Amino acid sequence: MIKDFSFYIPVKLVFGEGKLAAAGDEVKAIGKKALIVTTGELFKKTGLVDRLAKVLAAAGVASAEYSDVSPNPLHTEIDAGAAFAKKNGCDVMIGLGGGSAIDAAKGMAIALGHDRPIWDFCMGPNQASISSKTLPIVAITTTSGTGSEGTQWAVITNKATLEKPGIGSDYTFARVAIVDPELMVSMPPKVTASTGFDALAHSIEAYTSTLATPITDMYCEEAIRLIGKYLRRAVKDGKDREARNGMAFANTLGGFSIAVGIVTVCHGLAHSVGGVANTTHGESLAAMTPQTMRFSMAGNPDKFKNIGMFLRDEYVNLGQERLEDSVREVERLIADVGLDNGLSKQGVKEGDIERIADGVVRYMGGSIEIDPMNPTKKDLVEILRKSM
Ligand code: NAD
Repeated sequence: MIKDFSFYIPVKLVFGEGKLAAAGDEVKAIGKKALIVTTGELFKKTGLVDRLAKVLAAAGVASAEYSDVSPNPLHTEIDAGAAFAKKNGCDVMIGLGGGSAIDAAKGMAIALGHDRPIWDFCMGPNQASISSKTLPIVAITTTSGTGSEGTQWAVITNKATLEKPGIGSDYTFARVAIVDPELMVSMPPKVTASTGFDALAHSIEAYTSTLATPITDMYCEEAIRLIGKYLRRAVKDGKDREARNGMAFANTLGGFSIAVGIVTVCHGLAHSVGGVANTTHGESLAAMTPQTMRFSMAGNPDKFKNIGMFLRDEYVNLGQERLEDSVREVERLIADVGLDNGLSKQGVKEGDIERIADGVVRYMGGSIEIDPMNPTKKDLVEILRKSM
């Protein structure tokens, strides 16, 4: 019996090697002057920003560049970028980079469109709602992990309050997502591993969440299979085009899946961990995924037992009890790509645990509500302790 569901992902996806070249015509259809948002000077140095500016100019689209954005973008950086875009007359925001650049571009599109600081839309009793005033967004992803090019979410960090909420609405999907695996070849092994693990965590969580749909289930199953097949290869040899291609597609499938099925307890925890300790998102997910799987699997055993099977690229579940086997398969992958570092090695301290668990309950409550085992604060503390 197919369950009732709704599904809405209004993103034009342009996928394939060399598709950066399509950016000119795509952006021309929605704006006259683009702000190209990147995290730091890396892509200026490698010439990628200039390549994109040229492609845009050839289509008659002017551009300005803003690079003052950190990995895990800060709300203050987003406000500064929105002010820069306003001064420069930009009417479309392009995130060029990983999730941080794309989320920053989304944040600037919200802040500038509503002429309000971005944090007004993030937290608090008077949290502003995101409307159609949001400027159009284009996402050009250079990592294969967050799937931000396919989601409505933007994850924004406040260093003063140590909070890292995810915000989004139907207006914050990218109008166009360009997924060009060629742009991912330059990712170092560590970034490939941690971003690739983020894509796996998305696929596991959206697959097992109470909001999973028959469509996102297909996406998640294929994404898990592709990650099992290609993540080790992409980490070992960044120039392996087939592996980069497979990971790029898995990343986008994972993104589409969390746009609808959302994320569960592990992402709830990872946001709060990132707010308190400024960790690398994919690394903290790797530290906590085995324990969160063990915690949640009794709530959705049929799905959890499939995970190991898809990671091994098998299509037949041999009928044994496969639950713990799925966790062990994930742990094998974590070790093989060098992500087997507990939270304590990532700068999280025993004394941070209560604050992290409180943060999940306070501003990532949705992620625990849709987890199949609906954890309490006590459960969160227990998972964090086991993941140190
Ligand atoms: P990132 O964007 O922070 O990038 C990590 C580092 O890799 C940066 O220094 C960046 O310059 C570099 N980099 C990116 N692409 C590269 C390339 N091709 N070659 C060489 N270096 C490259 O990493 P990320 O994991 O993609 O994004 C993390 C952020 O996204 C976090 O804030 C996380 O919370 C958020 N996130 C958002 C969503 C969403 O749906 N919006 C989902 C998951 C995570």
